[in-house]
Order: sequence, then C-alpha cells, then structure tokens
Amino acid sequence: MSEVRVRIAPSPSGNLHVGTARTALFNYLFAKKNNGKFVLRIEDTDAERTSQEYVDNIFDSLKALGLNWDEGPDVGGNYGPYTQSERFDIYPKYIQELLDKGFAYECFCTPEELEAEKEEATANKKAYVYSKKCENLTEEEKAKLRAEGRKPAIRFNIAKAQKAFHDSSILKFDDLVKGELQMDTDLIGDFVIMKSNGAPTYNYAVVIDDALMKITHVIRGEDHISNTYKQILIFEALGFDVPRFGHLGMILAPDRSKLSKRHGATAVSDFVEQGYLTEALVNFVALLGWAPSDGEEVKPVEAIAADFRIGEISSSNSIFEYDKLKWMNSHYIKMLPMDTLKEMLKPYLTQYDLTELTDEQFTKMVEITREPLTLLSDITDAVPYFFGQDVAIDPEVQAKVLDLEDSQKVLNDFVEKAQTWDWTEENLHNKLEEFRGTWKEQGIKPKATMWAIRAAVSGRTRGADMIGLLEVLGKERTIHRAKRSCKVSR
Ligand code: GLU
Repeated sequence: MSEVRVRIAPSPSGNLHVGTARTALFNYLFAKKNNGKFVLRIEDTDAERTSQEYVDNIFDSLKALGLNWDEGPDVGGNYGPYTQSERFDIYPKYIQELLDKGFAYECFCTPEELEAEKEEATANKKAYVYSKKCENLTEEEKAKLRAEGRKPAIRFNIAKAQKAFHDSSILKFDDLVKGELQMDTDLIGDFVIMKSNGAPTYNYAVVIDDALMKITHVIRGEDHISNTYKQILIFEALGFDVPRFGHLGMILAPDRSKLSKRHGATAVSDFVEQGYLTEALVNFVALLGWAPSDGEEVKPVEAIAADFRIGEISSSNSIFEYDKLKWMNSHYIKMLPMDTLKEMLKPYLTQYDLTELTDEQFTKMVEITREPLTLLSDITDAVPYFFGQDVAIDPEVQAKVLDLEDSQKVLNDFVEKAQTWDWTEENLHNKLEEFRGTWKEQGIKPKATMWAIRAAVSGRTRGADMIGLLEVLGKERTIHRAKRSCKVSR
C-alpha cells in the first residue's frame, strides 16, 4: 500500500478552534499510527475572511499542541506550496481539463438571475438546484454574452460525471468513521468550481490539492459530508484516485448546542491564555470521540498514538465538558516539575514584584500554593499576601476572626513569643505546636489559634501551608503583620 498521507486544512478566518484542533489531532494520530505523513495546508481562497494574524495563530496553536506537521507552509515538502493563495496558477489547468471533457461548463448567469431562480424555488417550496440554463449555450451565444461584458463562472456538471462513473444517481462511499453513506446526486445541482473572477471555490481547490498532494485519507468534521459527494465526482472526472474519507461527529457544548464563545473559550490560544496546559488540552480533545482501550483517560499524546484506531472513533457527537477539562488540567499541573511550573506561572504573576522573593522563597511559595490550582491563572489570586510589607485584610475576616476577643489574645501572645523564635522550618513547626497547646489549655481550639495568625498575616482564613507561609514572609514581616492586627497598639 502507498504511504498514508493525511492533512489538516484550516481556513484562516479565525483563531484555531478546538474543533479543528481535534480534527488535526486525529489526523496526526492516524499518520503516526500508520507511519504516514501529516500535512498542513492553509485554505485561504476566501481572501476577504482571511488574515495573516489567523495564519500565525494556527501555526502557533498547532505547534503548542505538539501537532507538528511533516509538510506544510513553513516546513516545505515535495508537493508545495501548501497555501492555496500561492497555488492559484495550478487550478486553471484542471478547470480546462474538466471543460474539455465536458464535465464542466461556463455559466454567465448574473447574481440577479440566480437570485430569481432561488426565489422561485422557495415560492414553490422546492429545494434550490441550479437550472442548468447555461449548460448548452452555443459558441455564438457565449460570444454575445462576453461582448456584453459578462465574465463566466465555471460550473461542474453533476449529471455528466454521475453517468460516466456510476450506475445510478445514488452515490455511496464507505466512511472510515460512519460506515456506508449515500446521497442522491440529482439533489446537488451543478455547483460553481471557479468564480467569474478566476478564484477557485473550496470544493474544487480541495480536490486538486488533495489529489496533487497525494492525500490518501481525508479525516474532517461531519459538516463536510455533503461536500464529499461533490468532491468524489471531481476526483473521478479528473481521473484521480479517490481518497478514503472519515467524518468526525461534531463537538457540542454541555447544553447540546453548537460550541460557541458564550460557553467559554473555543480557540486554543484562548485556553492557553486562561491557563490551560496544552498537554491537558490535547489529552482532553482526544477523548472527544475516542476512548483508550485500557480505560485510563490521562495519557500523553504518544501513548494515545500507540493506542489509536480510527475505526473505533465514535460516530456520534461529543460534549465538550469544561469541568472535565478543568479536572484534567489540574491533574497535569500537579505532574509538572517544579522548575517548569515556576516558569509557566510567571506570566500570571506580572502584577507582583517577583524580585521581592529569592529563588528559594519563590519555589517555596509555589510549593505551598500549587495543590488547589485548576488553571495556571489561579495563581494570581492565590498569592497576593506573599508580597509587600502589609497585607489587605478581607473585611469579613476582620469581623469574623480578627475582631474576636480570643483572636486578640492569641495574636498578642504570638507577637510576644514569636520574637524569640528561630525562623527555621523545624523550629517553627515545634514552636507553633507548643503555642497551640498552650492556648488549648486556656480553652481555645488549635484551629482558632491558627486562624487568628493566618488571618493576621495573610488577610484570609484559608490558603497556603502555614509554616511555609511564615518561612517565606520571614520573621520581621510576620510579626509586623501580626502587630497590625492587634487592637491594643503594641
Ligand atoms: N478549509 C476547510 C475548513 O476549514 C477544510 C475542510 C476539509 O478538511 O476539507 O473547514
């Protein structure tokens, strides 16, 4: 069998969507599994909706996800260029071939004429199919229309192709994911393959590119199924090998509507900005339609590739559970080596002066705040009290903890005693235990004792491990903050 070659062919009309990322991943996995090639092609024939910013976003997002392409725009390959706008001189040749073989014809209809046809179909409650008005124009008629200044679009002749290659109008193909699919091609209508301005349309350019790039398997979203029938007929009309097709179910939001921005992030770059790890995102996205054979869902992409079988992809839609992604993300954060985590957290700590901390203190701070992180960005709100001499006290904490008589007693005593303590981890551990014990004898619960100290030094009732926190704050700052929370000025 020839080498497996798959592609991801995004249109740069927006940032890389997680749905496209999943399609890219399944193509990538299929290529890896079959020792094949994963090709990236940029489909920018629709110049108006395209921008370089989106092209860059697609490159960056795919790379961040580890979905590196074997051939493509900035990598090269034998079948390039891999950006459609750079391939415009390739497309006319095959248009001419289709015209010569009678599988395509020039159409001079104006937008107004086509609109009238559509309105008539609507009025008669019929699905619109182009009338084929221009199919049999004579050379004289065409010349006349040209003389009027009309420029023709080129339409593909469905019935001609269908009759040449199939026994009936029912076109069937065996989908890698969904099994046998079929459609009555009489319902398609002769569609435009090249616009009057010379620009190829998607359904045409995609066939030429897939054929010339020797793509063997086309794996994409099921929203393209209706296009596949058109594309198969063009492959056949040009005598190209027809690739195998596999259509993936859609990704829906938890409320079962189309996943959109109102549900949360949808672009890979937005997830990254919000503090998701790309490893978690890739892992999560792989589970949208695919399940590991051993039931172990947390898996790096290499392990997924080894286990991946396209025939096992679910043909139904998948639900994008943001909560599950968050769970997976927290799991991946926990697995990060300390040095990597420190670097990854820095972008979310720009509002703080990190130079206040030694590297050792920074490490300690991360060590004692990493556990509850779901998103990397959660660090921003988890650490304000590690910075600055004073700390902002939450009014509720003031009222419910610091204003209590017992808390005041504890704090006064703490300020007194802590002055004499050696500020080492082990000593703080012993001294605090002793301290709690003394107050327990006076009838104050150990928890309340710790609350009072925590509230005074961090302004909160919950947070990082106490000893670590005191260590990072240091003796002088701890006592300063505790003093400030004592009502009777000391
Ligand atoms: N440019 C198309 C899209 O972004 C690609 C479809 C295909 O894979 O053929 O939907």
